[in-house]
Amino acid sequence: MTTAYCEVCDWAEGTGDGTSRSDLNRAMIDHHVETGHAPIETIEADASRDEPAQPTVELDR
Ligand SMILES: [Zn+2]
Repeated sequence: MTTAYCEVCDWAEGTGDGTSRSDLNRAMIDHHVETGHAPIETIEADASRDEPAQPTVELDR
């Protein structure tokens, strides 16, 4: 599951029922466009890795 949240406001979104990865990505871009905030994406993959979730967000095209 991939989730995204905003440190500036309480916006948060995650993949799940009816929300695909690309839906989440679009929601993040929409939030950025609407508010100027940069949502942080956290990818929760296998817990077998010790690395913390990297905030990777690419809003520039
Ligand atoms: Zn925000």
